[in-house]
Amino acid sequence: MAIRTVYMDNNATTPVDPRVAKVVTDSLDLYGNPSSMHTLGRDAHREIERARALTADMIQAQPREIVFTGCGSESNNTVINLLFLPKVTDGGRNKFISTVIEHPSIYELDEMLTQRGIEVVRIGVDELGKIRMGELKKALDEKTALVSVMAANNEIGTIQDIAGISTMVHDAGALMHTDAVQAAGKIEIDVRKWGVDYLSLSGHKIYAPKGIGALYIREGAPFGPFLLGGHQEDARRAGTYNTTGIMAMGAASEMVCREGRAETQRIARLRDRLEQGIKDRVDRIRVNGHPTDRVAGTTNISFYGAEGESILLYLDMEGIQVSTGSACATGSLEPSYVLMETGVGAELAHGSIRFSLGRYTTEEDVEYVIEKLPPIIERLRRMSTL
Ligand code: PLP
Repeated sequence: MAIRTVYMDNNATTPVDPRVAKVVTDSLDLYGNPSSMHTLGRDAHREIERARALTADMIQAQPREIVFTGCGSESNNTVINLLFLPKVTDGGRNKFISTVIEHPSIYELDEMLTQRGIEVVRIGVDELGKIRMGELKKALDEKTALVSVMAANNEIGTIQDIAGISTMVHDAGALMHTDAVQAAGKIEIDVRKWGVDYLSLSGHKIYAPKGIGALYIREGAPFGPFLLGGHQEDARRAGTYNTTGIMAMGAASEMVCREGRAETQRIARLRDRLEQGIKDRVDRIRVNGHPTDRVAGTTNISFYGAEGESILLYLDMEGIQVSTGSACATGSLEPSYVLMETGVGAELAHGSIRFSLGRYTTEEDVEYVIEKLPPIIERLRRMSTL
């Protein structure tokens, strides 16, 4: 008998929406180089500009404020590299502030920044994953060039008050970036209300294929290209346009605008049902992240006396796909740094599972997990030598 597949790893990546897949297929006929002046080129270019407008709409931006990139990581790296522009570090501004729970595509650049004379400060978070505003306030000064705070965390789903943070950052005369890769499609994004100068997006978290991202650059915000050698994207990102990826990003963004609100309500209900079902049947657990300021689909649960990798493998044998932390950290046996920073001890962090629900999660999926998980935990606890 074929086992059922229950995909609850939507924070790692989402399946491609069949409607987006249709756009992908259709885009293959638009093979002209969008920079070419002939008809095939112009046809492709028109679709790219349409997708740009749709992507901009999703975050209340102007189309010219959107630059398409290869992924969320590229968008983040591009912003961090702005710290090498004299127009950003003018007046002796040589400090970069981020947080202890950012994605590696932000924090793994710290060493390079430090080596090149940039002071790096990382702000801590409380046990719910909210950044310590007092610490941020203290760190912000006339030396601060740029601040980067993620809008929603990939592992625990905690949402930050980006509008409030932007105000503080601008009061200090610095620039504000947010990594909204995990926020897009899950909470409403309004770059004007949030007051950010830069914002990163990724297609494969919103039901488009992998290999497409976007960067919002506020009109007038300092910018220098990360990829050089072409006039594409108004000379802001070189490289022949990824017509297929860009069109997919536009279609996926349009769906978020049209369906996002109803979808997140439905997903939040399913997530709450899952959480309650697990709480009712499994004792000695801890739900990580913020109880209310949390994106709809995410629940990160620590199981005392059971090991995360084992839970994951047993669930996988039942057809249930989850994660023990950030997908990007797979392969490393280090406990999740996000959980550690929120005060979950190493042992408990090792026993944590992230369930991330999405567009295609059904009630039956949730009931299936509620049925299959408790005996697995029970068995592992019995075997545990912890
Ligand atoms: N930022 C966050 C918060 C993420 O969760 C991820 C991916 O997991 C990224 C950035 C990187 O996005 P991409 O996979 O498109 O490079």
